Amino acid sequence: MTTTNLLEFDLDGLAAFCERLGEKRFRATQLFRWIHQRGASDFDAMSDLAKSLREKLKGCAHVRALPVVSEHVSSDGTVKWLFDVGDGNAVESVFIPEDDRGTLCISSQAGCAVGCRFCSTGHQGFSRNLTTGEIIAQLWFAEHSLRKRLRADERVISNVVMMGMGEPLQNYSALVPALKAMLDDHGYGLSRRRVTVSTSGVVPMIDRLGNDCPVALAVSLHAPNDPLRDNLVPLNRKYPLAELLEACNRYLEHAPRDFITFEYCMLDGVNDQPEHAEELIRLVKPGGRVGVRCKFNLIPFNPFPASGLLRSPQNRVLAFAKVLGDAGIVTTVRKTRGDDIDAACGQLAGDVKDRTRAAERMAKQRTIPIKPEA
Ligand code: SAH
Ligand code: SF4
Repeated sequence: MTTTNLLEFDLDGLAAFCERLGEKRFRATQLFRWIHQRGASDFDAMSDLAKSLREKLKGCAHVRALPVVSEHVSSDGTVKWLFDVGDGNAVESVFIPEDDRGTLCISSQAGCAVGCRFCSTGHQGFSRNLTTGEIIAQLWFAEHSLRKRLRADERVISNVVMMGMGEPLQNYSALVPALKAMLDDHGYGLSRRRVTVSTSGVVPMIDRLGNDCPVALAVSLHAPNDPLRDNLVPLNRKYPLAELLEACNRYLEHAPRDFITFEYCMLDGVNDQPEHAEELIRLVKPGGRVGVRCKFNLIPFNPFPASGLLRSPQNRVLAFAKVLGDAGIVTTVRKTRGDDIDAACGQLAGDVKDRTRAAERMAKQRTIPIKPEA
């Protein structure tokens, strides 16, 4: 008999499931807390649930994370997991510890259909959408395995960013319940400001997210004009810059932060000239072509051979940041983390197809054996 993985549900979904078993909503709340706050997967361990309910659950449900293919820990503390999602596909999650926060970067799809030129996921093509349970399983597994390892009682993961593999807004119906489980006080209790959806610009879904579940929004801009963006982010041909930026403004009416983060991947000789920065300013500044309250996050490109592209030199990145900053636009340059384990943006699951790894990389990393979940 097939049983249901309870990681597939937000609290409302679990309440509906429990109702079908003849159980009241507060039972669903207890169950949800056991699963997400305590990391429990064994119904027998859920001691305050009635024995009759535990027996019912054993017959029709389970709580199961994705099989872990590998786990790598970088010399800077970044942890990367590769999860098996079947049919030869794998997705990745990355935990990035910092002094004041712990950020988990998770995937929404196996592959991606958008096909951005500078992204190795895009070059792989699209395999399939992840289910809600497969999205939330990445957080469930990471939170509870890190907590055990670090022996910390407090939350290890303070922020979640949907910046792994896939375009989250092209998997909307699975994404929203996963976000709700992250935000739920009985789940992970993350504030809306600490959960970020990153999108290449699926305009109608930006509007829907604003209504259904407004979390922090990052938009992958990468170019200051349509011809260049058409080339780098093919989705721009469907939703050009002016439409995208108007959608950002509508989103700001609901957003938990009063700005949109624009991500901008710095590509040598392609989009990294001072003229590009000037054009961005004319685009987004108040009174510009489409003014948007925003911050810029410049991402050093992580090169991979099939892209035919190169990383902008650091001095050009800094000069670009200065042009934006001098115009009053808050601009940060992303630190690259986990370089020695290929955990940086756009490198995710790059080794699924190409399993060869440089020997010196292996020497720098520590592999931790995976213990089965309790
Ligand atoms: N599909 C969504 C979220 C996943 S990609 C999006 O595009 O926003 C997360 C971020 O990584 C995006 O800003 C993307 O542009 C960036 N990225 C992709 N490939 C990269 C690479 N090779 N080097 C640096 N950043 C990259
Ligand atoms: Fe997809 Fe984002 Fe990669 Fe573009 S950058 S191909 S949207 S994952």
